[in-house]
Amino acid sequence: MENLQGLQGAEVAFADIHGQQRAIRFLKRILKKETVPHAFLFSGMTGVGKYAAAMELAKALNCLNPQDYDSCGECGSCHKLQEGLHPDLIHIGSDGVLIKMDQIRDLMKRFRFRPFEGKFRVVIIQDAQKLMELAGNAMLKILEEPPKANIFILIAAESQMLLPTIVSRCCQVRFQPLEDEVVAQWLAREGGLAPDRAAGIARLAAGSIEKARWFSEEDRVAGWKKVVEKLENLDGLSILDFFPMVSGWAKNRETAEQDLEFIRLWVRDLILFRVAAAQNSAGGCDAPLTFELNGRTKEAARSVPPERLFFLYHNVEQAMQGLKVNANLQMTLEGVCLAIKDSLYGKGGWNSFPKRGQNLPF
Ligand SMILES: [Zn+2]
Repeated sequence: MENLQGLQGAEVAFADIHGQQRAIRFLKRILKKETVPHAFLFSGMTGVGKYAAAMELAKALNCLNPQDYDSCGECGSCHKLQEGLHPDLIHIGSDGVLIKMDQIRDLMKRFRFRPFEGKFRVVIIQDAQKLMELAGNAMLKILEEPPKANIFILIAAESQMLLPTIVSRCCQVRFQPLEDEVVAQWLAREGGLAPDRAAGIARLAAGSIEKARWFSEEDRVAGWKKVVEKLENLDGLSILDFFPMVSGWAKNRETAEQDLEFIRLWVRDLILFRVAAAQNSAGGCDAPLTFELNGRTKEAARSVPPERLFFLYHNVEQAMQGLKVNANLQMTLEGVCLAIKDSLYGKGGWNSFPKRGQNLPF
């Protein structure tokens, strides 16, 4: 599901969809032509505005008083579409796994009648990659001989996830990840976040409003701070404390994937900082970092060869891949933390054994 609840119900038009100028320009160019393609495929990651754009296209196609090929937001048709009350708008979604044949059969029954009120009946199919087997074939048949005055908008993350025969029948519109600035502005506008916090979360969200919304919840911020704290503490951690720390961490499988994503972003910060420090004799970093690196971490990053940091980054990415295919979490975290401890803090980071003359703790 696209997550743009903050915009739903508001009077929006193409002009209010932020950060997708290219896709919107393309759609408006199409609206200027006499004939509109009967099927579109909107692809792109979750939370970048595909669903909002599909709704805007439905509105623009049926608006009673369109302005510059955009909906007016005020006529009866626009109001009904905005409120989800228009009889010629059909939504089809999956039950989480599949779009079922029954849903397509019900849809086909509607084609016996022309659109009730609008110029076009608009059928929005979310998670179109879940059109499989019978339902997929039935949909293909519909697209091969499309009923008049019906426009289909298929929404999916990647066009490769759909049957190629379906893709070839659609006019493809690609939606890019949003710029950090667009996400930050959205967070400030819709969530009332302070600019600093909005900018920090936008960097974590990697171009998705949905991810940004997820991160903006309070406990998520606390979660990422805890991970960074653990990484910073690796420096002074003795071998006696290292393994219990990791085994405690590994108990929480639910957040493990997200934690590794935080680690990846943190290592990315180290690389950005390291590269900037090499270019800038003052040792500062103008590149926007996701996290605030503390003094000791900066000092460590500055003295490490960049290749070692790149290798570390690769190491974290591999660990993330491993977790996706069910690698042992504790061993994965141990591997990543040991790699960070060694790469960043070197052997000096191991306060492993008490110095001569001190009592062993066991
Ligand atoms: Zn209108």
